[in-house]
Amino acid sequence: MITGRVLLLNFSYEPLGTIGVARAVCMWFSGKLTVEENDGDNVLHSPSTTIPIPSVVRLRNYVHIKRRRQETTMKRARIYIRDRYRCQYCAEHKHAKDLTLDHILPRAQGGESTPQNLVAACVKCNQRKGNRTPEQARMPLLTSQKLLRLGLDHVLLCHYAESRPEWKKYLFMDESDETEMNIAA
Ligand SMILES: [Zn+2]
Repeated sequence: MITGRVLLLNFSYEPLGTIGVARAVCMWFSGKLTVEENDGDNVLHSPSTTIPIPSVVRLRNYVHIKRRRQETTMKRARIYIRDRYRCQYCAEHKHAKDLTLDHILPRAQGGESTPQNLVAACVKCNQRKGNRTPEQARMPLLTSQKLLRLGLDHVLLCHYAESRPEWKKYLFMDESDETEMNIAA
């Protein structure tokens, strides 16, 4: 239990990432955050008390975020994770070593090397597409502009949230499927 992850929100409810349960409890004890959601009925026992394990916590003070993480060398790996190690043209799952980063709008046409303009592509598809846009190459993208615009950090949190339903409302994930299921049931 103590090894689980906790969703950390800014004071503004903007998702910042995840922290370990132990760190979340420490920060809660020192008054740095409030608990928004508990992890079901799971509790931590100490000699003197029992504490519900937090699942979603929010900072008591607003923190200004530096956007430096997008510039790091981890970008490639994070884009592969965002795209689930799947070529975004032929849909094949690949190992990282068999994937490349494809510029959706090619560099030759002014495309930037930003996560919004980069997708995982197998070598074959990347070569076939060449210096063309998906439209020009008639190679439609699997992923959507909406997902690409969300930003890497946010998409990675959405992947985590698939096993943590109580996180979803904080990540603005579309819950229409669940609503429909509830109505059907
Ligand atoms: Zn491919």
